[in-house]
Amino acid sequence: MSQPRLTVLAGPTAVGKGTVSTYIRDNYPQVWLSVSATTRPARPGELDGVHYFFVSNEEFDDLVASGQMLEWALVHGRNRYGTLRRTVDAAMADGKSVLLEIDLQGARQVKESMPEANFVFLTPPSWDEMVRRLVGRGTETEQEQQQRLETAKLELAAEPEFDHTVVNDSVQRAADELVSLMGLSPQER
Ligand code: 5GP
Repeated sequence: MSQPRLTVLAGPTAVGKGTVSTYIRDNYPQVWLSVSATTRPARPGELDGVHYFFVSNEEFDDLVASGQMLEWALVHGRNRYGTLRRTVDAAMADGKSVLLEIDLQGARQVKESMPEANFVFLTPPSWDEMVRRLVGRGTETEQEQQQRLETAKLELAAEPEFDHTVVNDSVQRAADELVSLMGLSPQER
């Protein structure tokens, strides 16, 4: 058995972090995908406590003020997202390999407090492919898409801050590589 450890998956917006981490959650029971708290409203099909803990601005303020966030960030200038310290601690104490799928600002905060964690950067096969994925997703307005692409350009430059890079050319291949980097065998799927 490999040691339980914390892996942070970050990368530019629309690179497919959510898809890869959902695939891992659904296919690798030995990985515990952290459920973040967010002030963003739920999208259709999203469940409280499964995809996110959907909280009010006041509740989020309280979580931050009482030191319950391992990290948190205002993402795309709109909504706040954060990792609840106690859920991560509990999963690690349970011997699970923990995966955080968070934005770059959050990854930098975790690096400050837990430099021994494993930091993985997910990158698109190409810029054109990333634009195609973002536009194809159709969940954001045109203005939001522009803002996300601007953010993505800056975020791509952060790759050297990470221990490993995984190219998201195929969800299963990228997930298998990430799981290997977590010290787990993809065959355990
Ligand atoms: P979405 O609204 O599409 O679910 O997520 C938007 C962004 O928020 C994604 O880039 C995702 O990585 C980021 N995110 C989700 N949860 C967290 C979190 O707990 N902390 C931080 N810093 N970012 C998060």
